[in-house]
Amino acid sequence: MTEILPPTPGGIARAAAMLDDGQIVAFGTETVYGLGADATNGVAVTGVFAAKGRPDFNPLICHYASADAAFMDVVASATAHRLAELFWPGPLTLVLPRRADCRVSSLAGAGLPSLAVRVPSHPVALALLGAFGGPVAAPSANLSGHVSPTSVVHVLAGLSGKIAAILDSGPCRVGLESTVLDLCGPSPTLLRPGGVALEALEAAIGPVQRQPLAAGHAIRAPGMLRSHYAPALPLRTLADDVGPHEALLAFGPPLPGAGLVFQLSEAMDLPVAAARLFEGLRWLDEQASAHGVTGIAAMRIPDSGLGRAINDRLGRAAAPR
Ligand code: AMP
Ligand code: MG
Repeated sequence: MTEILPPTPGGIARAAAMLDDGQIVAFGTETVYGLGADATNGVAVTGVFAAKGRPDFNPLICHYASADAAFMDVVASATAHRLAELFWPGPLTLVLPRRADCRVSSLAGAGLPSLAVRVPSHPVALALLGAFGGPVAAPSANLSGHVSPTSVVHVLAGLSGKIAAILDSGPCRVGLESTVLDLCGPSPTLLRPGGVALEALEAAIGPVQRQPLAAGHAIRAPGMLRSHYAPALPLRTLADDVGPHEALLAFGPPLPGAGLVFQLSEAMDLPVAAARLFEGLRWLDEQASAHGVTGIAAMRIPDSGLGRAINDRLGRAAAPR
């Protein structure tokens, strides 16, 4: 049985005690729901990989209540401090060299010399991290390769009975995963576009290298898997028409001809579309058979601001499985 805990002081204290006991607890953040475990406990971390069916070469992000707590486990450069001041708490993950006395189990970091760290801004997540008092390793709370969860119902759909508890934190404001920025090399490199726009990062620290998602390109970040975030239905991007058995993922005035439409944002508001994307992919999957739909046509989305993160997720959803 998976317990649903309320976002009250009692629920948060119980979730923290369960983490302390080595159990796995899902909790909401401003990005998506995370599948949390005590990052210093190798056995608990193994349970996270097992529950998700995640390959263990794909490292987990460690979550902290503050930048000071995060920088106890990694070596933070001046750039890291500046980004932490500007964007934490918030949807930015920094990849930094592990300290020699890093508390995090090497299993959580997939044995790498670097560690991905973040301070989330969701008040319930921050309260949980504060109550627990140590690093919490947390990938998205979905089965590996599937669409990330932005509600308790989504978490239950994939992991009911496989994890100890879910701390109900309400909906996720951003709705897309964090931006992952690698600060280990000579210049900052974007490993995953996400909730903090590239433009905002570049305004703060200057040019950021992009990691292209090209077929055959060597995977620099383990787990930057090409096929990911995949709905059950096949999906194609940049659609400018709709086939007879296709549903439409619309952005702005819908293309004509679709019987089943999920509107990301009629007003073409990118943050609104980002927050609705995963909900939309799940909804279209659920509705498909009743509408005789066998695929999704996704309309074009501008490749700027949060649009970059949306396009990244759609590109992976559309990739060969
Ligand atoms: P998820 O846990 O599903 O949000 O995914 C976390 C992402 O962060 C994955 O794509 C990982 O590959 C990436 N990541 C985590 N730790 C590291 C690291 N040490 N170096 C590079 N990428 C990392
Ligand atoms: Mg994930």
